[in-house]
Amino acid sequence: MIVSKQAVKIIVVGAGIVGNVQSLLLARAGYAVTLIDNGSAALVQADGLNVRSVALSRRSSELLAEQQLWPENTGCLIKSVHVTERGKYGAVRLRSEDLDVPSLGVVIQNHLLERYLMAQVKNQPNIQLLQPASAEVVENSPDAVTVQVVSDAGSIEITAALLVAADGTHSKIRQSVGIKSTSTDYLQHAIVANLQCQRDHQNIAYERFTDGGPLALLPLAKRQMAMVLTADSAVADRWIEKTDADFLTLIQQRFGGRLGRFEAVGRRAMFPLALHESRSQMKDRVVLVGNSARTLHPVAGQGLNLALRDVFELGARLSACVDIGESLAEFVTQRAADQRLVVRQTDVLARVFRRQPWPLSVPLGLFRTSSMLLLDTVPPLRTRFGSASSGLNVPLSNFVPRQSSGSQKINSST
Ligand SMILES: Cc1cc2nc3c(=O)[nH]c(=O)nc-3n(C[C@H](O)[C@H](O)[C@H](O)COP(=O)(O)OP(=O)(O)OC[C@H]3O[C@@H](n4cnc5c(N)ncnc54)[C@H](O)[C@@H]3O)c2cc1C
Repeated sequence: MIVSKQAVKIIVVGAGIVGNVQSLLLARAGYAVTLIDNGSAALVQADGLNVRSVALSRRSSELLAEQQLWPENTGCLIKSVHVTERGKYGAVRLRSEDLDVPSLGVVIQNHLLERYLMAQVKNQPNIQLLQPASAEVVENSPDAVTVQVVSDAGSIEITAALLVAADGTHSKIRQSVGIKSTSTDYLQHAIVANLQCQRDHQNIAYERFTDGGPLALLPLAKRQMAMVLTADSAVADRWIEKTDADFLTLIQQRFGGRLGRFEAVGRRAMFPLALHESRSQMKDRVVLVGNSARTLHPVAGQGLNLALRDVFELGARLSACVDIGESLAEFVTQRAADQRLVVRQTDVLARVFRRQPWPLSVPLGLFRTSSMLLLDTVPPLRTRFGSASSGLNVPLSNFVPRQSSGSQKINSST
């Protein structure tokens, strides 16, 4: 049956960054989107040193900015990357001016991006937001998908042409449609916290390899750095319990004096380093994106970057779509190589990070930082790191913004 896009309903489950971007792209393409999230509708507020942040490659922030999904003049640019190894002289430096690019990446506080996206979701007439409400698939066929939505108001069923699951690592949607997933536990944890420093960061990101594990410091705000410290799980358990003063001493010993004295540390959080990967990205009319499809260990800083490329490609395919089933199949095929490479690259990093000390003569010291920020920006690095990086430069289809409402026709049985 041929119907107008306006009549075609798409359900997106999960209103994290991934689900919100996906919903906005689909709504702008003319679909009627129902966005369901089981979290609180209250927005996270700024909280001094206790904010969480994410580093995005230049390409990710540009993709978002092109669709007006990036809050203007927000985020801290990374202009230079500095890689060192504790106990050894010398450093590897990369500067944006040497590479003739305006920046190498950007660090943004999660709540600023989340708030900006949620404001747009609420102002988008093609999106119906159900929150707090949880969703589970009750029927999935080659033509349609039905979910049960439970909220304080009771339980309802909604049928749609497609469901995009952006409901995170332990996705109920993935489980309810029977897509299997595999998990690898790296037996390490990342400790994440923000640091107040004596000196200005000058937009430099640092990667420091130490006996205890790598330490990454990313510029966040004036004299503030976002820290990711990796350690074996038993060690991380001890470190997270330290007093602020002892923890600052530990970081100072590991990092040295380049940023002067570390004056304060925000609330610490600890994340297990694991890889969760779904065996398939779609089944009938359900497709997985973001952490529900694959959760990478955070030290590689790739999770959201990869998810955004998926979300933009899916949005582009569906915006130009005449047949949802075909578009989904094309999407899965087109994205597979990039996903495989990033998963493999991240997995290699997770494993080699355990080998200490790190030999600076091997340019792998740049590998993690470059994988996070640079490989889709810097052609020489792409060459240097060969096939492991080339997947990050996979071209994406162009998103076709909404023309006149309902002007495009697509095949759908709902
Ligand atoms: C410490 C750390 C640092 C990181 N740093 C980086 C980085 O520098 N760069 C980078 O690219 N990536 C990074 N990542 C990865 C990045 O954070 C994730 O890729 C990203 O948050 C995934 O978002 P998501 O929207 O898929 O999932 P989530 O953020 O988990 O969102 C899932 C949403 O679904 C909702 N939900 C769950 N179940 C249901 C249900 N049954 N019904 C309705 N709603 C439901 C939840 O309430 C939530 O809102 C990092 C991750 C960690 C842990």
